[in-house]
Amino acid sequence: MAIADEDIERLRDTVSLVDVVQSYLPLRRVGRNWVGLCPFHAEKSGSFNVREETKRYRCFGCGAAGDVFKFVQDIEHLDFVGSIEHLANKAGITLTYTTGGQSKDRQHRKQLIEVMDKAVNWYHDRLLTSPDARVARDYLRDRGLSGEVARQFKMGWAPDDWDAMSKEIGVSIDLLKEVGLAFINKRGNAQDSFRARVLFPIFTDAGDAVAFGGRILPGSTDPAKYKNSSETTIYAKSKTLYGLNWAKQDIVAADEVVVCEGYTDVIGFHRSGITRAVATCGTALTEEHVRLLKRFANKVILAFDADAAGQGAAERFYEWESRYKLQVFVAKFPDGKDPGELAMTNPEALAAAIKDAKPFLGFRLQRTLDAGSIASPEARSRTAQQAMAVINEHPDKNVRKIYAGEVASHVGIPAADLMQLAERGSRKPEVRTSPTIDSSRRENAEFVALAIMVQDWNAIATWMSEGLFSDDVYRRAYLAVASVIGNIAGALEAADPDAREVIERAAVADIDSDPFTEAKNLISAAVRRELSIRNRITDPDEIRADRDARILLEEIDNPTMADAVAMELLDWLGKRVGEHA
Ligand code: ZN
Repeated sequence: MAIADEDIERLRDTVSLVDVVQSYLPLRRVGRNWVGLCPFHAEKSGSFNVREETKRYRCFGCGAAGDVFKFVQDIEHLDFVGSIEHLANKAGITLTYTTGGQSKDRQHRKQLIEVMDKAVNWYHDRLLTSPDARVARDYLRDRGLSGEVARQFKMGWAPDDWDAMSKEIGVSIDLLKEVGLAFINKRGNAQDSFRARVLFPIFTDAGDAVAFGGRILPGSTDPAKYKNSSETTIYAKSKTLYGLNWAKQDIVAADEVVVCEGYTDVIGFHRSGITRAVATCGTALTEEHVRLLKRFANKVILAFDADAAGQGAAERFYEWESRYKLQVFVAKFPDGKDPGELAMTNPEALAAAIKDAKPFLGFRLQRTLDAGSIASPEARSRTAQQAMAVINEHPDKNVRKIYAGEVASHVGIPAADLMQLAERGSRKPEVRTSPTIDSSRRENAEFVALAIMVQDWNAIATWMSEGLFSDDVYRRAYLAVASVIGNIAGALEAADPDAREVIERAAVADIDSDPFTEAKNLISAAVRRELSIRNRITDPDEIRADRDARILLEEIDNPTMADAVAMELLDWLGKRVGEHA
């Protein structure tokens, strides 16, 4: 069953988002927004913004965002249809039900989740009661993972058999195949995907079972220690974090999440009283994971050897820090033990490691300094160079400066000299032309323009073009918004996840600037940027065109000419941006 689209639109139009939100929490007016304490995370100052004009809300603390239906879904714990029925009921609107379309997918998903749920219970019962699971129970007991722990985490046992589950569970092979629990073998028979493994069911943050991770017992001839469900329509590894369903509350309360690499690490943390741990499921931490976590906390503590992933990983972490306004920390565990082991032998050390976690760069630097010698002048110089190479990966100059100070006192070379050495060294000026402060200001101007586009399309649309956006995410957000002429719902649908996040923010951003001024600034910035990378032009026509552009730039603030100048510069830009890409 689905609800007619007209009814949904009618509801969206008639219901006041501010009124609906205010029936749950007090809001006060701030500029064009209504602001209150976010109902989705614990906070003392209001970061929950509601805007009636765009009919959208956003929390700048936890990232919760959406329209009136999303709000009702989240606050009343309803699904989409449920939220519509709830609102219609209050507004006295009678709904027309239809069949088909979108609700079919939802129905199907529900069906798959039910299959998974059945499987979780089947395997769990097997572990707790079946005689053939004794070996598994013994193994888990030795590791402190039996009884209450096994029950809390719904652990299971896949018997050492070809098709025990497929045969007994009472679900069609087609459905079992679709959730990755069984397959048809060469002889044409149904066969279970997991065999002779302890199973850790993996849930979404909302608590729906979507996959399993399976571990062999010691002595098994199976070469794969861990085996995970393959990806299915309900399970994407890059978006799923083991344990988030249990950890969510504590993550929000502490504004901090511990990320590990193994299921038993997560369980170890929980047993040691640190109930805000999650794990990736057989993949590295992805941007999707980070975006998911950002909904719950601002601080991420890596409880694995993140440094081992190398320089590429480091750059990714710094990028996420700045893009998602996150802080990435690293916990160091004594004697190279993993958290699962430590939970058994020394739970206090586990808690201490989390408490003493260091910022990612600080952690990497400490490691480099510890490994480097300062026994001779030559050794000092070498250690300084290695340390500065690590520092240099960080995009923020001020951060680099502060850490350079630490290196200076360690090796006895003045910080200013170290900075100079570093700038000349691995940091390539061609790659990172402008210092961070400049680029973030430019991003802000781009963001402001996007916000105006979303909130007041006609005021700025004439002046906008793709080439004005140097930040790739903002550029994609621009394309999404432009593709539907400023219609927010359409833009959100058209946008990729990163761009969508920007549009969400743009929809509720408080913008008081004059649209044309913003457009002019953006155009000037884009033209200057373009000119700066066109310094090796030899064609005389192009040289003349560039000179004209420079002259036009001088005139853009002249009120009588601004319109015409801006148009001409846009035209100049349109002909050139992209040529060198
Ligand atoms: Zn919030």
